[in-house]
Amino acid sequence: MWLHPPPIHTVDLDQLKRRIPLLDYLRQTHWTPRRTGTQPEFVGFCPFHQETKPSFYVNARKNLFYCHGCGRGGDLIRFVELSQGLSFRQTIAYLQQQLAPPVPQDVLAETAAFYRLQFHRRPEALEYLAQRGLRDGSLIEELGIGYAPGGNLRRHLMAHGFGVAQLHDAGLINLQRRDAFCRRVIFPCRQFGHIVNFYGRSIGAAFPHRFLPRSKGGLFARETVRQSASIVLVEGLFDLAILWQAGFRNTTCALGAHLTSAHLEQLTQPPSGPVYIVFDQDENQAGQQASRQLAQQLESVGLVALIVRLPENHDPNSHFLAGATAADFQACLSAAQPL
Ligand SMILES: [Zn+2]
Repeated sequence: MWLHPPPIHTVDLDQLKRRIPLLDYLRQTHWTPRRTGTQPEFVGFCPFHQETKPSFYVNARKNLFYCHGCGRGGDLIRFVELSQGLSFRQTIAYLQQQLAPPVPQDVLAETAAFYRLQFHRRPEALEYLAQRGLRDGSLIEELGIGYAPGGNLRRHLMAHGFGVAQLHDAGLINLQRRDAFCRRVIFPCRQFGHIVNFYGRSIGAAFPHRFLPRSKGGLFARETVRQSASIVLVEGLFDLAILWQAGFRNTTCALGAHLTSAHLEQLTQPPSGPVYIVFDQDENQAGQQASRQLAQQLESVGLVALIVRLPENHDPNSHFLAGATAADFQACLSAAQPL
């Protein structure tokens, strides 16, 4: 608990507030925001006093709130002080605890570190990434890409004090106690800086895509793209990685072609700029159809959606592998069409 808070001077308050956006925090407390029409402002009932007309305003960009009814206002820290009745020092400790990993996080963090280590020991992982056009070592490092050879994770984690039940609950081993990920390149999926899942891409004959049986979190690297003027939305992490490598750092991914209401909320609160949908151009039209459905969905919540057409039978990854340059991709973005 926060009975022994850390010394305040060691805490980066701005970073703390950036990592827990005020609006996200309020939504976790079941505060219901409504858009005011003035972006990026939201209004709802004041949590501090009874009212019949909403007068509690939140500016999602400045991360500030103000209630015209009771005059209370401030930042996330002030909100927690008021709503939880804590001192400043206790509030900081409380917020740090919100960011601190729950127990299963430890096992995921240890697993990610282990996969990173394996990545550097096994040439096949790097070879696979090179085949997919990923050669930028610092980007591979930044994304935390690892490798699961299979057959050695359980032993490693148990040597670190984790129990079989814990590994099984996390989905890291199956009922036969074998590693769930085997011969897969691993991308950790993070939320608020913590690992919530892994995407494992098979480098062998096994089914290509695999996740742990738990939430995949929100949009990939949402914190990175939330300040962007426009967003490039792709289907998979290899598409994302190749676009980041080519300089399109405003690329994010919902780990599939369908957006959940949680993803939509991330795009609308605060509202993002135009969303470029860059899905696979499939022969059977599946990707194109998914693009149109998604564009409708985005438009229905007030976002501008533009559909990007790549050359036939290409996804962003294969497009670059076939020799496209950043300028070629930019040309595709510029030619994007609304529905
Ligand atoms: Zn109030």
